[in-house]
Order: sequence, then C-alpha cells, then structure tokens
Amino acid sequence: MNTPKTLGFTTTILHNDRQKTIEHGSPHKPIHTSVTYGYQNARDLAEVFQGKQSGYRYGRQGNPTVSALEDKLTKMEQGLASICFATGMAAIGAVFQGLLRQGDHLVSSRFLFGNTNSVWQTCAEQGMELSLVDATDVANVAVAIKPNTRMVFVETIANPRTQIADLKRIGDICRERGILFVVDNTMTSPYLFQPKAVGAGLVINSLTKSIAGHGNVLGGAITDTGLFDWASYPHIAANFRKQAPAQQGMAQLRAKALRDFGASLAPDAAHQIAVGAETLALRMERESLNALALAQMLEADPRVAVVHYPGLASHPQHALATELFRAYGALFSFELKPEIDCFDYLNRLKLAINATHLGDTRTLVIPVAHTIFFEMGAERRAEMGIADSLIRVSVGIEDTSDLLHDFAQALG
Ligand SMILES: *Cc1c(COP(=O)(O)O)cnc(C)c1O
Repeated sequence: MNTPKTLGFTTTILHNDRQKTIEHGSPHKPIHTSVTYGYQNARDLAEVFQGKQSGYRYGRQGNPTVSALEDKLTKMEQGLASICFATGMAAIGAVFQGLLRQGDHLVSSRFLFGNTNSVWQTCAEQGMELSLVDATDVANVAVAIKPNTRMVFVETIANPRTQIADLKRIGDICRERGILFVVDNTMTSPYLFQPKAVGAGLVINSLTKSIAGHGNVLGGAITDTGLFDWASYPHIAANFRKQAPAQQGMAQLRAKALRDFGASLAPDAAHQIAVGAETLALRMERESLNALALAQMLEADPRVAVVHYPGLASHPQHALATELFRAYGALFSFELKPEIDCFDYLNRLKLAINATHLGDTRTLVIPVAHTIFFEMGAERRAEMGIADSLIRVSVGIEDTSDLLHDFAQALG
C-alpha cells in the first residue's frame, strides 16, 4: 500500500511527535520539566546562545515539550513556525509588545473578544492610532487604512454575535498594500478554517478554547503563515535583520515578547493541550452538529426573538461561512421575547452550565451584557450589537437529544 503524500488533519496531530526521535518510543512527547540545559562542551553552549547551533538554553524561551506542541500547531495552520504563550491574551499582547510602536495605526474589527478590545484601548493610550471598524464589509477596512497602518486585526467568527469578517477581501487589500494581516482564529480553530487561505500573515489561537477543549488548561499561540514579507516591516530590530527574512518576525516575537515579558507556556500545560488537540476535529464536528440543531430549534420557536448562528440561512454571512468554513462552529447566541426573563431561562436549564468560557466539551451559557461585556459599558455594547437579554451558548459534545430537550424545557 502506498502511504498518502499528505496526511489528514487528525492523523497529522496523532503521529507528529513520532516524526522525531522520542525516548522509549513513547507516542507522546514526554514532559520535560528542566528549566536549564547543560552542555558537555562550553563552546556548544556559547553557540546556542549565539544562534549558531540549535538547542535549548532556559525554559522561558523554549522547552522541548512546548516545541512539540508548536510544531503541531504549525502543521495544523499549515504555517512556517509557531510560538506558544501562557494564555491566548499573552499571544495577543505579544503582537502589540513585539511589533507595534508609538505612531503606528492599527485597524481592527470592532466585533472583538472583550479583553482584546481592552488591549487596543491600552495601545491607544500609549500613542497608537486605533480604528475600530465593522469588518464584515471590506469597504470599512479600506477607508480606514492610512499610510501609517501597520496591521489589520480581525477575528473569524465574532463572539457573541457571530459576525464574520470579510476575510478574503480584507486579505486581498492587505496583500496589495503590504500590511500585516493578523487573524484570531480561536472561534473557528484550524480544523474549521486556516487563515493562511485568505492571506493572513500571523494567526492567533487561544489554545484554552477548542484546541485543548476540556476547560482544564490555559494556553495561546501565534503562528507565522510565511505569507508576510518581514523584510518590508519597519520595526524589525537590527539584530533580527541578520536572520533570513522569513524568520525575522518570529525571531523578534520570541525575544521581545515571549522572552522579555515571560508569559511562557508551562510544559505540563503544553502536554495537556497536545492531548486535547488529538480530538479537536471530532469535537468540532459534534459541537457544530449540536449547535446547528439547537439554533434551528430555537429559531423556529415563537418564544424566541432572534438566533445568531452562521449555520442558519438567516445569518447575514451564511454564504461566506459556507464558502470558507468546514462547519459553522460551536458558538451561537440568542434573545428571548421580552416576556421571558433571560435570567429565569438560564436558571431553568439543567444541563447547560452558567459559566464563562467557550470551546469546552460541556455546554456553557452566559448572559453576556451582565458579565463579560459589562465592563465596557452600554455604548460600546450597543456598537457591538449586544442586547441586555442576549444569551451566549458555547455548545459541548453532549448527546444532541439531551441538549434539545434541556433548551426546550427551559422555555417553560
Ligand atoms: C478566549 C479568547 C481569547 C483569549 O484567550 P485566553 O486563553 O483566555 O487568554 C482571545 N481571543 C478570542 C477570540 C477568545 O475567544
């Protein structure tokens, strides 16, 4: 039998560690807990420090267990290289710390994860110009771009209203103008969508969500797709310019963001994330099926005012989602008619858990305006289309009929 040239998504993840030598033939990369690495010959140590030889020096900058996960993420995104961080926010913070400077202009979708919105506010306070636009239409991105625009940042499916950025056309504009296009792929995960396909230069994933998948470990990553020309980026420091152009961006991010700010992923966490990632495709398939079934049931019920889910024909970007994504994902949100109080509804659910977080194996529900989007205030919530009664659902892998029954009985 001939071995296929390119292995599928799950096969690749399952067998990736064994592509390199592993002690005792273990199918998992072992957890290496050492913080420092010793060398027989002091000259080798010096060469590792000078980048003339590959090798580990100190746990904050790199670790073999973490590297094995980085390698898997790179394959999942079909990229060039990845860097792991302690959390998804640390990965987003790294983009800001490692690549943006005072006087730069950043164009970002205004439908954003709440803490990313908060980071961009900090950027603005520290002397960067910020344009928050409705990125579901490329025209809004195009008019916002200025000569000092360094980066365009979008999410794939926005949380909680599930707006989908005009990913392909934004990618085209960024390529034409030589602007770095950064896509937060957390909501889709590399199983449903690879941002490289629309021209992203950097991809962010919160590993805490679908990739690890079980709500028991935090992590984040940046993947360089290899599409962006770092030679044209003005803020690469002289010592990173010595490297090949393709490596300059990640070299600077690893040193100036990971090493200097120190939000490193722990090796135990990397191992747990790697185990979770083995079932990413299976979970995403099941969660997407469950989410579609729930969204369809709720949309058909007269007691429900509106359901936001890219898998519904009523969703404004349904056609785009069908074209770009392998399935419609695990997240939807909905509003009940005014006669049902959203808190009462949530309290009647028996299986779904009142909790923040998403991409878990268990179904989680939350009244977003009163919790995760409370801090930003009513005006910003209105801009993001977040009504006071909006309920967000992160759908798990429970048996479909149990979820349908739970969400139906809670209607009263
Ligand atoms: C959760 C999330 C993050 C942050 O990830 P953490 O691992 O919680 O720090 C960033 N972006 C999106 C879209 C997220 O959902």
